[in-house]
Amino acid sequence: MEPTDKEKILKAGKIASETKKYAKAIAKKGVPLLEIAEKIEAKIEELGGKPAFPVNLSINDIAAHYTPAHDDKTLANGLLKVDLGVHVDGWIADTAFSLDLENNEENKRLILSSESALQIASKTIKFGIKNNEIGKRVEEAISSGEISPIINLSGHGIDKYELHSGITIPNIDNGQEIPLKEGLYAIEPFTTNGAGKVYDGKDSGIYEMVSERNIRSQGAREVLDFIIKEYSTLPFCSRWLHKKLGAKSLLVLKQLEANGNLHQFALLMEAGHGKVAQAENTFLVTNKEVIVTSE
Ligand code: MN
Ligand code: MN
Repeated sequence: MEPTDKEKILKAGKIASETKKYAKAIAKKGVPLLEIAEKIEAKIEELGGKPAFPVNLSINDIAAHYTPAHDDKTLANGLLKVDLGVHVDGWIADTAFSLDLENNEENKRLILSSESALQIASKTIKFGIKNNEIGKRVEEAISSGEISPIINLSGHGIDKYELHSGITIPNIDNGQEIPLKEGLYAIEPFTTNGAGKVYDGKDSGIYEMVSERNIRSQGAREVLDFIIKEYSTLPFCSRWLHKKLGAKSLLVLKQLEANGNLHQFALLMEAGHGKVAQAENTFLVTNKEVIVTSE
């Protein structure tokens, strides 16, 4: 990591932090998710960053990966998770918070539990600590009464233009014992009153480029080239392409997915259809210090 990389990491974090404040102010009950998503993404650009992925606005038992389509009519309600990412030249800040939009005690407990687990993890993370030690603390912080962590969702290492690098920061003691090196990490406790697991639901409209392999159609090739130039290996969504290239690009996305150029993410659904809360921050870990970049 170069000194200029650190500046970019901190800048992305600062923009994420500012955007989070803004998002909290505009994400109100009854506001269209489409409007919230577009305003958040516009704010990131206004502050000098780029979205590292489409804003996720997942409600109730949708744990993650819901981003509005270009014609989405859903209004904000229930237990809303706002997960946003910023990058500056590929250096990412990934952060999330949850809102109770129906004045519900259970929602509030779930949110508080995810936030306090993140707090405890923030105090635990340091250079050399084993990843499962953090998971153990998160699990202990969450598990009480009917609230449990979601065991198959986890935090992750982050690298340049790589939202999920190899290492996992689990929300349970997964027994891995991998010591943390210097680098960037996201910690994201998910809490639920459901089964404590997620499964893959419907298509999300969020994609990631996985192969530049040849595609016969000239039109599809041009769209793929656009994706590579604009988003590199970071996630993007059908809504973005619809805005930049028009309605025809929606069909091309299907072609590119079928040809193996794109991977489409599924919605992540809570297995017992419990409600889900999430809190997330990004941490820069060196052998001297830990900086919460997105706080
Ligand atoms: Mn996130
Ligand atoms: Mn994350």
